[in-house]
Amino acid sequence: MQVTVLGAGIIGVSTAWHLLQRGHEVTLVDRQTDAALETSFANAAQISVSYCEPWANKDAPLKTLKWMFSDESPLLFRPQLDWAQWRWGLQFLAQCNDAAFERNVAQLVALGSYSHAALKAVVADTGIEYHRLERGIAHYYTDQKSFDGAAEAAAVMQRFGVKRRVVSRSELLTIEPALQAFADRIVGGTYTQSDESGDARTFTQQLATLCGQRGARLMFGHDIERLDSDGREIREVRVRDRQSGLARVLKSDAFVVACGSYSTPLLKSVGVDVPIYPGKGYSATLPLLKPDQAPSVSMIDDQLKIAVSRLGNQLRVAGTIELGGFDLSLDTPLAKKRCEMLVRRIEQVFPGVADTRTPEQGGDPQFWCGLRPATPTNIPLIGRTKLRKLWINAGHGTLGWTHGAGSGKALAELIHGERPAMDFGFYGMPSDAQTAPVSARLRVAQPPGQA
Ligand SMILES: Cc1cc2nc3c(=O)[nH]c(=O)nc-3n(C[C@H](O)[C@H](O)[C@H](O)COP(=O)(O)OP(=O)(O)OC[C@H]3O[C@@H](n4cnc5c(N)ncnc54)[C@H](O)[C@@H]3O)c2cc1C
Repeated sequence: MQVTVLGAGIIGVSTAWHLLQRGHEVTLVDRQTDAALETSFANAAQISVSYCEPWANKDAPLKTLKWMFSDESPLLFRPQLDWAQWRWGLQFLAQCNDAAFERNVAQLVALGSYSHAALKAVVADTGIEYHRLERGIAHYYTDQKSFDGAAEAAAVMQRFGVKRRVVSRSELLTIEPALQAFADRIVGGTYTQSDESGDARTFTQQLATLCGQRGARLMFGHDIERLDSDGREIREVRVRDRQSGLARVLKSDAFVVACGSYSTPLLKSVGVDVPIYPGKGYSATLPLLKPDQAPSVSMIDDQLKIAVSRLGNQLRVAGTIELGGFDLSLDTPLAKKRCEMLVRRIEQVFPGVADTRTPEQGGDPQFWCGLRPATPTNIPLIGRTKLRKLWINAGHGTLGWTHGAGSGKALAELIHGERPAMDFGFYGMPSDAQTAPVSARLRVAQPPGQA
């Protein structure tokens, strides 16, 4: 079967890889000059099966309201004259209760475990190197009240089979001695040894290269301008070469939309309405001055809700969410404040370990921002749209790197007519494909004409 994958972030590339593995002919299209140059470029690098709590919980509405008045808050709702934003907000509010939270966690853990196994298999098959560190993720708390709640969060994860456990300050320091200078502020933490970290961009770009070597047609530098449908099925996709200006029409047996946050406007043009809204986040990548004193365990700072990962001789700190449309600016006062906050925290927690000087002071922090493709549930849309031949793999929000390998594999399986072996609600799929016995791989019935 010929399959065209639209978007070459971690999700699109992983989908392409797994389709090739199943013997399909793949075309991969992206407007950028390489894979992973948008949201998959400089994220927090965590493969966090255990830290997958959805944003929507019973405390979220009040917190979000309070946070609206602080430029440095972890989640900032910036109201726009945009119905899509308000509708997303209302759908999010509907998820802010215990029942929805549990339901959503169950799905995220199922996909996380499946994806972690898929990632390990891809790494074993390909030997890709991407500053991978299998040292776990530690979550440190500086506030006793929040730490008291950590046991409850760990218990939720343990119920779903994730070995996240509460650790004392002294145990945390044994797990990651680099926290020593900040020890006085820490009241305790949680730790999951099975989690890991690594550079999503390097991984994705190398996997895209391997896709090319396995025969995929890589069409970088092409804008996807339009999907054409007759109301029942997708006919073709119109793309334009950014350099030459030449337009091309792509025909295929199946098309996969994996354009992150931009999947929403693209799909809307053919009447497919998906609740994916951009959640802007920032990162700073800093050169290490004292590599031997830098952390190798990936971290979550509970107070600021930011994550820190070591990538070779650099330290990456990332976080914060802004719901305010498709804004990728880094030079506004708000963006600068949020970037500075990330770097300031690194100097507080790991003093002198990384070069935290500003460019004005002669430093070279690499600031970046990206748009998380967020759904109100945090659960990505992996499956079939109402139009024949048109599939979706998007909406991975905060966890696209964690869920990347598994989402690509699962969609490739669905397109191939297989049933992914996990309990997960696939988008637009018949109910017998929604959940699966963990051991079995049954064929999924295809409606007539469905690619
Ligand atoms: C600050 C931050 C920290 C994060 N930390 C983590 C983390 O630690 N762990 C984790 O699991 N996840 C993390 N994430 C989330 C993760 O990065 C995303 O979920 C993931 O990158 C989404 O991948 P994607 O392939 O869906 O989107 P993208 O990487 O954005 O890929 C979509 C592709 O589609 C292309 N495209 C879009 N529209 C068009 C068009 N019209 N024409 C042509 N091409 C188009 C784009 O060029 C892009 O390459 C973080 C995100 C942010 C912002």
